Amino acid sequence: MRTQVGIIGAGPAGLLLSHLLHLQGIESIVLEARSQQQVEKRVRAGILEQGTVDLLNETGVGARMMRQGLVHHGIELQFGHERRRIDFQELTAGKSVMVYAQHEVLKDLIEARLVAQGQLLFEVDDVTVGDLDGSKPKVQFRKDGSSQELICDFIAGCDGFHGVCRPAVPTEVLNVFERIYPFAWLGILAQAPPSSKELIYAYHERGFALLSMRSPEISRLYVQCPPDDDIRNWSDERIWQELHTRLECLDGWKLMEGPVLQKGITGMRSFVVEPMQYGRLFLAGDSAHIVPPTGAKGLNLAAADVRVLSRALGEYYASGKIYLLDSYSTTCLRRIWKVQRFSWWMTSMLHRFSDDNPFDQRRQLAELDYVTSSRAASVSLAENYVGLPMD
Ligand SMILES: Cc1cc2nc3c(=O)[nH]c(=O)nc-3n(C[C@H](O)[C@H](O)[C@H](O)COP(=O)(O)OP(=O)(O)OC[C@H]3O[C@@H](n4cnc5c(N)ncnc54)[C@H](O)[C@@H]3O)c2cc1C
Repeated sequence: MRTQVGIIGAGPAGLLLSHLLHLQGIESIVLEARSQQQVEKRVRAGILEQGTVDLLNETGVGARMMRQGLVHHGIELQFGHERRRIDFQELTAGKSVMVYAQHEVLKDLIEARLVAQGQLLFEVDDVTVGDLDGSKPKVQFRKDGSSQELICDFIAGCDGFHGVCRPAVPTEVLNVFERIYPFAWLGILAQAPPSSKELIYAYHERGFALLSMRSPEISRLYVQCPPDDDIRNWSDERIWQELHTRLECLDGWKLMEGPVLQKGITGMRSFVVEPMQYGRLFLAGDSAHIVPPTGAKGLNLAAADVRVLSRALGEYYASGKIYLLDSYSTTCLRRIWKVQRFSWWMTSMLHRFSDDNPFDQRRQLAELDYVTSSRAASVSLAENYVGLPMD
């Protein structure tokens, strides 16, 4: 098999890259370990920055998102049992975010690729990448029990944090930057209409809580928990009780409950590798960086990476020039580090740390008070939340 760009992983990074390349007349093959059904059902992110929404619309895959997604013009920050709103529209000259589940974005991208007769190979096994520093890198894999080889001009490592592409780069080439947080998020998906029109980020002495949503019928809720906690310790009753306690507000607001459809615990880390290129392998999305979910940035960073990569590959195939490919890593990392900073800052402001003391708690409360009462600080939060410019 032969293609111009071999893409490992059919997550947001891989599928969007394949779509953006197709629009420039560049051929790709996407190899994915999971089945199409698993990819289309995996519940993860749900907040799209303005730039991600614009990109999906500009490239013709935003129609269902515009019909079914929920446009949010702000968020609420809760502390001391009171809520204060950050008004994105007013603070960022009309920008907003879109609540639209990641797996719905993936469904739209898969459909677009299949309509265009793009090649998506699901349920592939034993993927390995090789000859990365030569001119014809290759991917070996098994499909339906038989071994196959794919020869490419370039390989895009879009295979997430646990994929095979990053480990294929010699360790002496990569610099790893990492912070692991001393807490995790216990998240539920509930069959309950969202109890608030906008997301509520709550700082509470028992730990952080987040009220979010995926649709007018489905709520997504999180509570901070210990990193080594076991989901079996959390009955549905205990989760709702904790949510009621942490989200309780002085104005008599009520949290609506409903059947819990899914629940799970996710660890929190910040992680970046530099550079994001080795020879003809380009890493994009979670394979190169992870952010704690507090800033809702992971999917958006993946989209920003592949936007840069698709333009660089477009320039290469149009003119033979490699300047944009050579600067891919530097271009992406400038924005990635700003987004890392924002995600770390939101996380640090809103969570209880195991070693914090009354001074730290007072400092966090002062920060929340400042962020919600100073226009300069509110603008800073808002412009980061709706998304920094992609270029
Ligand atoms: C609970 C949770 C909530 C989140 N909330 C948000 C949010 O609100 N906003 C936001 O922006 N981000 C959020 N994120 C992060 C976001 O989901 C990820 O950053 C995003 O999925 C990254 O996309 P990706 O394409 O880089 O990687 P992935 O989505 O991980 O996709 C990688 C793909 O590669 C496949 N793969 C892996 N290894 C192989 C292999 N060896 N061979 C073939 N295929 C392989 C995987 O099966 C997967 O389909 C959240 C994450 C979690 C876990």
